[in-house]
Amino acid sequence: MAMDERTGTDAALLERHRNVMPDWMTLYYEEPLELVSGKGRHVVGGDGRTYLDFFGGLLATMVGHDIEEIGEAIRAQSHRILHSSTLYLIRSQVELAERIAARSGIPDARVFFVNSGSEAVEAALLLMTTRQRSNQVLALRGSYHGRSFGTVATTGIRAWSATSLSPLNVTYVHSGYRYRSPFGHLPDDEFNRACADELKTMIETATSGSVACLLAEPVQGAGGFATPPPGFFRLAKEVLDQYDIPLVSDEVQSGWGRTGKAYFGMHAHDVRPDAITFAKGLANGLAVGGVVTDARTMNCLQANSISTAGGNPVAMSAALAVLDYIEDHDLQRNADLVGGYLRGELEAIAAENPVVGEVRGMGLMLGVELVRPGSRDVAPEAAAACLEIARRRGLLIGRGGLYGNVLRITPPMSVTREEAREALTILRESLAELAAAMVAPRS
Ligand code: PMP
Repeated sequence: MAMDERTGTDAALLERHRNVMPDWMTLYYEEPLELVSGKGRHVVGGDGRTYLDFFGGLLATMVGHDIEEIGEAIRAQSHRILHSSTLYLIRSQVELAERIAARSGIPDARVFFVNSGSEAVEAALLLMTTRQRSNQVLALRGSYHGRSFGTVATTGIRAWSATSLSPLNVTYVHSGYRYRSPFGHLPDDEFNRACADELKTMIETATSGSVACLLAEPVQGAGGFATPPPGFFRLAKEVLDQYDIPLVSDEVQSGWGRTGKAYFGMHAHDVRPDAITFAKGLANGLAVGGVVTDARTMNCLQANSISTAGGNPVAMSAALAVLDYIEDHDLQRNADLVGGYLRGELEAIAAENPVVGEVRGMGLMLGVELVRPGSRDVAPEAAAACLEIARRRGLLIGRGGLYGNVLRITPPMSVTREEAREALTILRESLAELAAAMVAPRS
């Protein structure tokens, strides 16, 4: 194996990757990293180094690496049967659906399982457009809903919009992202009112009535954890109700207690959505996704619909073990406590570091928006540099935002206060190094 001596990157593997994988499938880091093993919140890289993992493979390693109970559930089921298809009864699928239905707060709920977040949102869009007999969809600016044809059409970030072709007629409305909003200076209640008025205006002016749904992330993931103020979604829901427009909450990142405040992110905003989509962390990284909605909506399809590997017994067993683990270890409370601690300390860093424009988020979904010192100008190069510096110091974090200038700090929900402290030390030092370089650039 030919290693780059300085970084430990397997140069041959990187070259083979580049020869067969799509160019648009981005790799993090100037010297891309292979994660070869993990335990808890730590991973070992192909470079032989151990890192503190505060990104959890795009939030999918929700509980942590190599968790005994989850590994055992996967092993046990894989010895029984790997696959049967939804043409047969699957006990674990029924049990998981019962648990999700009960937690959804949706009366007479039905659950349909698929294999990814994109598919989950596709399923929700198929249901809502059919139920409402409309191809008109409202989405939030700064949203990300997937890579498939229909979900790209509802994704409000140019960097993730590979095509303008669309099966839907989409209108983008205000997301509640405040830092760069023309309403941003207003106090919470006035800001929320201005956004709700804008929603009403968009419904009145850009749609012809009979709208299929509003699709919204409670905390925008790829959008850099933009989080609307309390009350934002309550007011939006009032407007939607006036026009009989269902609300679909895309909880691919925010579900299962990660926001610390509730099991689903939209509940943390005190709103009951009409449908919830989920994926990513549910099986701690194994492929799974789904949608939960009321029986009338779920059963509105007049044709058969099936997902061959949806409800896969191994994924279902893993998901049940994940939900058990979250409950047994009260990880929602942990997300609230450790997330609150991280948030407070990040705000203290922001107060003394001119590169940090804003700290935001909920629970263990924390965004740090980077700017050029002395301004609000976006600094995507600073975010890229910060990822590199943090890696050098042993910490993996993510990146996002409309302009790619937001750090995403989102460790597995089992993260300890001690690990948070360690990550904060690295972040403080990394941001200080960055600020020093930006305030006094080398000639
Ligand atoms: N919705 C949201 C909110 C997401 O964050 C993502 C993935 N980043 C998706 C949908 C799509 O999920 P997947 O990549 O599993 O298709």
